[in-house]
Amino acid sequence: MPAEARPRPADPLLTLVVPVLNEEQAVPLFLDAVVAVLEGAGLRFELLFVDDGSTDGTVALLARLAAADRRIRVVALSRNFGKEAAMSAGLDRARGDAVVLIDVDLQDPPELIPTLVARWREGYEVVYGSRADRSSDTALKRMTAGWFYGAFNRVANTRIPPDAGDFRLVDRAVVEALRRLPERGRFMKGLFAWVGFRTVGVPFERAERAAGESKWNYWRLWNFALDGITSFSTVPLRVWTYLGAVIALLSFLYAMFIVVRVLVLGIDLPGYPSMMAVLLFLGGVQLLSLGVIGEYLGRLFVEVKGRPLYLVAREIGPPDTEH
Ligand code: UDP
Ligand code: MG
Repeated sequence: MPAEARPRPADPLLTLVVPVLNEEQAVPLFLDAVVAVLEGAGLRFELLFVDDGSTDGTVALLARLAAADRRIRVVALSRNFGKEAAMSAGLDRARGDAVVLIDVDLQDPPELIPTLVARWREGYEVVYGSRADRSSDTALKRMTAGWFYGAFNRVANTRIPPDAGDFRLVDRAVVEALRRLPERGRFMKGLFAWVGFRTVGVPFERAERAAGESKWNYWRLWNFALDGITSFSTVPLRVWTYLGAVIALLSFLYAMFIVVRVLVLGIDLPGYPSMMAVLLFLGGVQLLSLGVIGEYLGRLFVEVKGRPLYLVAREIGPPDTEH
């Protein structure tokens, strides 16, 4: 147990932040499962659904559910802003002493929530679900995820645990810390690690999706990975300095070698193939490094515009009485 833990309230309010995108089928299953677990554990809770621009009947369904149960609140974003923005919208509106971020598709088991709360009561501020095995993922996803975490942890100053998803409980102090981070590029896993606080993982097995289908594809994951690395590291920008220095040094040595060889052996026939190879190689390296600068510049552009992270179209549920 960590030292000098801030005392936890005797009857804490737990907020579940649930981002949803076209999850008409999953919502009822989720609701049944989660309410049973939380009531069973005697926890006081609110369910905060963030609709991330669903185009099916998800919002109407959530509105009906919220009308029937005062523990349910709904924030409907004006369009699809992405799961990261939806989670931020939820964190901005959560009233709980602790907040659990959980997917609606039951891949994050609600049964684990009492354990997360227990660790929080022991004094941890961040309790993340740590995936014991990734057997529910395809081999390709496992492999690419491994590469990503390897690359991230090598180039970024912030360490993220390779087995953590978004499923986690965070203390109010962490929520307030996250709300102070102004960036638009919100790579939540990285932000959670960046804010620090006492953190512990709880192993769990990630189930198959209960209903509906995954909203991710490899193109989205690739962009997600780029966002993650460019938000937390400037190594990709700086590496070209060193590469350039090494190439310059090698070409200088080669030039010296040619001078000496000409002095000793006389003039040689020019080597067009090797010239072409060097030219194309360097051209490629230059375009690549320009592309990397472009990645950062593009992100800088988005940050500088300072547009809001998300826009809310509708809020449904009991009025905020605390503020
Ligand atoms: N989601 C979202 N906005 C998006 C994509 C997904 O709010 O743009 C929600 C989705 O409804 C679900 C959670 O994020 O509750 C995880 O999505 P999904 O299950 O598709 O991701 P996976 O589990 O395949 O990584
Ligand atoms: Mg899922």
